[in-house]
Amino acid sequence: MIIQPKTRGFICTTAHPEGCASQVQRQIDYVTSQPAIEGPRNVLVVGASTGYGLASRIVSSFAAGANTVGVYFDKAAEGARTASAGWYNSAAFEEAAAKAGRKSYSIVGDAFSDEIKAKTIDLIRTELGQIDLVIYSVASPRRTHPKTGEVFSSVIKPLGGTYTNKTVNFHNGEVTTATIEPATEDELRQTIAVMGGEDWQMWIDELGRAGALAEGATTVAYSYIGPEITHAVYREGTIGAAKNDLEATAHRLNAQLGTNGGRAFVSVNKALVTQSSSAIPVVPLYISALYKVMKEQGIHEGCIEQMYRLFAERLYGQSETLVDEKGLIRVDDWEMRPEIQAEVAKLWAELTTENVYELSDLEGYRREFFQLFGFQTDGINYEADTNPDVAIPNLR
Ligand code: NAD
Repeated sequence: MIIQPKTRGFICTTAHPEGCASQVQRQIDYVTSQPAIEGPRNVLVVGASTGYGLASRIVSSFAAGANTVGVYFDKAAEGARTASAGWYNSAAFEEAAAKAGRKSYSIVGDAFSDEIKAKTIDLIRTELGQIDLVIYSVASPRRTHPKTGEVFSSVIKPLGGTYTNKTVNFHNGEVTTATIEPATEDELRQTIAVMGGEDWQMWIDELGRAGALAEGATTVAYSYIGPEITHAVYREGTIGAAKNDLEATAHRLNAQLGTNGGRAFVSVNKALVTQSSSAIPVVPLYISALYKVMKEQGIHEGCIEQMYRLFAERLYGQSETLVDEKGLIRVDDWEMRPEIQAEVAKLWAELTTENVYELSDLEGYRREFFQLFGFQTDGINYEADTNPDVAIPNLR
């Protein structure tokens, strides 16, 4: 079939297998052009098919030479429907890993469930023995609690007061004002249940109980802080409360794993175009302004550059991992440089529909958005008949 992008708001409902494969290869090429990392041997990535999780898996496999297990929630092609981007990304990753002589396995299903945890642990015990790095990179709008069956939904809302700021429709460049009403107590509780640390803790507990964690194992989850302009809706809103919970979990896990020489961290990463971040109001416009400034200064990074730096310079580069006063790893350090933030704030004040392409990198944002689904990628013939049915090698 001829596969073209079909968008609904910030969602693209189609994905292109060859475009996704090319995006994965580009990340592999970047990593293999960098110095190798003396790092983990066996890595579990929960949320491994797109964004930061996929990049973490690529760095583990292609920079550190590790075996990997990826857990993710993606769909195969069916009838006239293409598979999801994460499915095609993972198929391409698995194929490249096999060619490079690394073991890699995929488990597709709900990471929040007991069933998928048990299945993953069985696989680890059979194929790899133990894991020495667990990356937790799940971003989800919903979670079914494995013990109570309660279904939680996360919302991106401020707490206490109404939030109003600029936002952009990144498809047509229209800059408007978004107003978001504050969350209720229950929405806050549910968002923490989805995006907080409970599920991460459950994974580590289960892995530990099964003897699937190596001595000295490390675990890392990802967070975001960001600029003043998004604080009320992000860091001080419902998602920020969930991230506070995630960070508190890291402290607990650090003590828990520490008894066996292990470590737990939250890494604060840069704002980047991913399927999750495009769903947050205001953030796409901020990212567009940020991209413009960071590209002009020659310090722009994507997911793969961020994750390579996390592994090479923080987790495995030094005898001790560099953290801030709250114990957080900061690979958002370049984004948060005062001169970068001052420049973005200046642009922010001036941004309108009329000047958005001139004052921000909205074009770059949009291209990256489509590239997440394998579109707008050089070297791909989008007019060619393409088979959407792609198998994932080593799918368990
Ligand atoms: P993403 O949407 O690209 O990836 C999410 C991953 O989670 C996918 O692999 C998806 O398959 C998986 N997933 C979702 N629900 C699942 C489920 N029930 N079971 C198994 N897998 C499931 O997201 P991302 O932007 O890479 O976010 C990953 C983490 O990084 C999040 O914690 C996010 O807050 C954090 N982060 C993102 C940014 C950003 O700008 N994108 C910045 C800093 C930190």
